Amino acid sequence: MFWFGFVSLNEEEKVQRRILLNQNALIAQLSAIGAIVAIKTFLYLVWLAKRPAGVGKEDTPEPSSPHAKFQRSRSPWSVSSWRLLVRRLEWWLSGEFVIGWGTRGQWILAGWWTVWLLYLSIRETGNDYLHMTKRLGLVGASQLPLHYLLVMKSRFSPLALIFNRSHEELNWIHQYLGRILSAMFLAHAGLYLNFFVQAGVLEKRLQDDDVLSGLMAIAVISVIGLSALGYVRMLSYRTFYWIHVILGGYLLLVLYSHVVHIQIYIIECAVISMLNVALRWTETSHLSGTVSVVGTTGLIRVEMALGPVSQGQGSSREWQPGQHVYISSKSSRWFNLVPGYLSKNPFTICNISSSDAGGGSIRQMTLIARCQKGATKQLAEKSKLSPAPIPFRVEGPYGSSHRYLEPARLRQYSSVLIVAGGVGGTYAVPMWVSMIRRSETPSRARFVWAVRSMEEAVCVFGDALTDSKGPDLYVTGERSGQAAVSEESGDYVELQEMETSLPGEAPSGGLRGVTMRRGRPSLGVVVSASFSGASNTVCVIVCGPKGMVRDVRQEVSEWVDNGYAVDFHAEFYGL
Ligand SMILES: Cc1cc2nc3c(=O)[nH]c(=O)nc-3n(C[C@H](O)[C@H](O)[C@H](O)COP(=O)(O)OP(=O)(O)OC[C@H]3O[C@@H](n4cnc5c(N)ncnc54)[C@H](O)[C@@H]3O)c2cc1C
Repeated sequence: MFWFGFVSLNEEEKVQRRILLNQNALIAQLSAIGAIVAIKTFLYLVWLAKRPAGVGKEDTPEPSSPHAKFQRSRSPWSVSSWRLLVRRLEWWLSGEFVIGWGTRGQWILAGWWTVWLLYLSIRETGNDYLHMTKRLGLVGASQLPLHYLLVMKSRFSPLALIFNRSHEELNWIHQYLGRILSAMFLAHAGLYLNFFVQAGVLEKRLQDDDVLSGLMAIAVISVIGLSALGYVRMLSYRTFYWIHVILGGYLLLVLYSHVVHIQIYIIECAVISMLNVALRWTETSHLSGTVSVVGTTGLIRVEMALGPVSQGQGSSREWQPGQHVYISSKSSRWFNLVPGYLSKNPFTICNISSSDAGGGSIRQMTLIARCQKGATKQLAEKSKLSPAPIPFRVEGPYGSSHRYLEPARLRQYSSVLIVAGGVGGTYAVPMWVSMIRRSETPSRARFVWAVRSMEEAVCVFGDALTDSKGPDLYVTGERSGQAAVSEESGDYVELQEMETSLPGEAPSGGLRGVTMRRGRPSLGVVVSASFSGASNTVCVIVCGPKGMVRDVRQEVSEWVDNGYAVDFHAEFYGL
């Protein structure tokens, strides 16, 4: 096959081949450290490139020539060319490769890693077909610990700590790596089967344990891969998740019995998995909470008591709005049957409030969920039957959005723009409230929120928004009965033109300082208002349907092309 052939080796050559096999697998595993350093270095460069002008030695002095002065005046503030280059590169990398198919950065990283692993799979193999075949399997196996590490949800996950990103933000690496490894293992199995056929030993080898366990592993990997397809995840997220977790564990057993050379990597995976389960267990609490359906909004509100206020102070596990938790309730059929981590749904903490109860103050956590067809529907049905509190298993809180609230970071911003669609308010409202309470937040801060109905904004989020400067509300669905934000389909449906603009109209229900308009927001105008005149980085945070995120990004692109710096964060509610 190509330049590879079946070669016969003497004992010494076989020993040499084994050494090369193990060496390259080790290099493949350790090179992940190199990749992490490279990504961290790039992120550091991005950070430097976005620092305000005037900070750092790289800023160039005022040029003397009029032409140079003119060139310089065309950019929004004085920046050296490398900074512009890095900013534009970061923006380009974070853009979608093909709509709905991941970003350019993800594809480039995945492509680079694939080429590197393939290189390690063929270097110094000469024309030895079996060497290359074994290498594909062993190099692939060396990546499994990294793959299992990326599953860890805990805030103590090493990768989450290194990158200051939550599991959900790093999950795409797990998805891409999974595809690369599946392809390598399939190639390994296919090439081996071809060898057995060519050597006329297929029937005999199909009775050997190593071959049987290898084929079983391929079957398991295929089922895991098929269940992870977007279509299956949409159809039944739970089926996908259970298959992933149960078969992911079973795969380790099968691979351990496959060949002795990969056992070290399987043991590493087992240790990581046990650590993951232990950490998730320690981060799980049993809380009691009430569920109520919010009018006709199609939303449910879950309120849970977190304990006395004094307990939360100084605790390492602080519950903050904007973080998210994974919950399962006793209304779920599976509550007592399966371990907690197998049946939980993630929701953003919309508000943490305190209420008086029996002489002390109790902290209370509020979650708002769009009612769908699974666990959320069961919760809604349960609440209609009885308003009594029900037991919940709550894991978390997780999430790293607090990085946008760091004082040093906030001080760098010229302006802040938060855009939300519908239930995306569960993330956007607490971020907004936290931001405007901080003195470091620039005065040019704006929150634009498209909701289907006033009821959605006032009844659901009213508590969280009291005492704060209100958002610019765009009510999209009440008047004509058409919704501009379709969360079920994930689309941002542009059905309505701007109807009436009523700045300052006070909505009923007690929200103060809210500007209300009917129709959908003109994102171009909104984005321009935040960027024009900005002398430093503009922070843009979007949480809504994918179409809305795309539209905001599109508008921001023009400003980035013109040299403006942006800290852009899109919060998605899908994994
Ligand atoms: C970090 C994060 C925060 C979120 N915060 C909120 C929030 O504050 N409010 C809100 O309404 N929604 C939020 N979501 C989305 C929410 O988790 C899902 O809508 C919910 O789990 C669906 O439950 P279900 O069983 O009723 O859904 P189903 O009807 O079974 O499925 C509906 C959709 O939800 C997806 N889904 C189902 N279970 C999960 C799961 N365990 N994890 C991820 N996606 C799932 C499915 O793929 C499907 O597309 C958040 C998601 C993430 C990842």
